[in-house]
Amino acid sequence: MKRWLYLFALVAGLTCFSKPQAQGQRMVQPKIVQSADGVFSKERPSQVFVGASLLKAAPQISDAIKPLLTSLHSDTTLEMPTPLPKTPYLLIGLATENSALKRLKSSWKAKLPASGLGKEGYLIEIAPQHIHLTADNPEGIYCGLLYLLQAMELTGLEFPCGNIADWATLQWRGIHILFNGRQEVPQIERLLTEFMPRLRLNQLIIEVNYFFDYKSHPEVAAQNPLTLADCQHLSEVAKKNFIRIVPMINCMGHQSWAKTTFTLLTKHPEFDETPDAPKDNTGLYCRSWCPSHPDIGKFVSDLCDELIDAFHADAFHGGMDEVFLIGKCPRCIGKNPADLFAKAVNDLHKHLVGKRKVQMYMWGDRLLDGVGMKLGEWEASANGTAPAIDKIAKDIVLCDWHYELPDDFPSIAHLQQHGFQVIPSGWNRTDSVQRFLGVGLKHQGAKLPGYLATTWASAGGVVDELLGVKIARDTANKGRVKTDLTAALWLGAKMAWEGK
Ligand SMILES: [Zn+2]
Repeated sequence: MKRWLYLFALVAGLTCFSKPQAQGQRMVQPKIVQSADGVFSKERPSQVFVGASLLKAAPQISDAIKPLLTSLHSDTTLEMPTPLPKTPYLLIGLATENSALKRLKSSWKAKLPASGLGKEGYLIEIAPQHIHLTADNPEGIYCGLLYLLQAMELTGLEFPCGNIADWATLQWRGIHILFNGRQEVPQIERLLTEFMPRLRLNQLIIEVNYFFDYKSHPEVAAQNPLTLADCQHLSEVAKKNFIRIVPMINCMGHQSWAKTTFTLLTKHPEFDETPDAPKDNTGLYCRSWCPSHPDIGKFVSDLCDELIDAFHADAFHGGMDEVFLIGKCPRCIGKNPADLFAKAVNDLHKHLVGKRKVQMYMWGDRLLDGVGMKLGEWEASANGTAPAIDKIAKDIVLCDWHYELPDDFPSIAHLQQHGFQVIPSGWNRTDSVQRFLGVGLKHQGAKLPGYLATTWASAGGVVDELLGVKIARDTANKGRVKTDLTAALWLGAKMAWEGK
């Protein structure tokens, strides 16, 4: 391939969105690419030197380097020599541990944002005889390695010389998946090892609900649940890929779907907000648990504890979207729905943040006034819960989901103004994701740490969709608007990293 054509392709990020076989070529676009004369030839064997402090800080880097060793005809990594050799080599390390890497960092100082490279930023220099990769943190080295691997996949034997500086615009870039049983563990692994790194996604929210082998309340474990060993294994895999797993139980609402009531309420009907409602859920959207039942808080805390421990998690997502049934039971009737909702949120917060010291996430829809914001009763509240926005802890991170295409998305500023960190959360329409995240990027900062791609598919469905095998659950908008979960996922991930 001609060099100019390669560079064009590289800079353009090869955003070919149509063919499944082309998905492997998708990559996020570095912030700065400066071309230079010459090529680094991959035909010649190259030595690969890795910094000792880097490996000490993040031993998993040695695994991340392995695919690169293969493409450079090298068997092993070596300690950094002084002086550096005249023969071709690749040098990878933190800027503090080698003078060549220190020089590379200094050469970019004036061109980087005031905040620097951030946690995941990296610098690469490609010259005919060497490639230098440095960063301030192991996460940055990892992202630089991902870039090199992806760029090398796209080139022939000659790697064009140049300088690359890249960093993440939004630090938190996540995907939310459902979970249908432990047969999906291999697919979650593929997400963690293949797709999420490629998309530069660093947070995986797994909606486990009752699909865990709970020991505190074994009766609520659904069929074929995750085991403790599964969670520990996934947690290790995630760590190797610098991904944080955030386990989730959808609290309060969503205790049933269609005719199926989930195990919490089938085994413990005493927690049901509407125990007398038809058993087949006729006329109901989803059942809720009662926030006023004296035993529900402890019961749910036990389940959360098990998931936090199993995944070694430092964050938990409590769900709480689309709570339609509230204030219905004899304990709750007559009470203000906002007070009831706020009690449920604050009880969970007290346990997660107060006792377990983990970060708490939840969906934001019940805190939005659907009438005032002209939003539907799913993405905002029409049942009086919105005033809870002023009654709950401000350190809860709100995942603000919207899937339609309004002119504006005022909920982001609204939630921020009430003191919350907000994570815009899109789904399967590229037009909606583009506009929603576009608004989000205008509000970026401490109160907008990231973007969340929701999928409303299980791990298996998402992997199949990303591989182009079949389309994941995609019925909600079918026949009305064009949906494409894969394209929307890629677009959100790219925008979150690139900031445009
Ligand atoms: Zn109740």
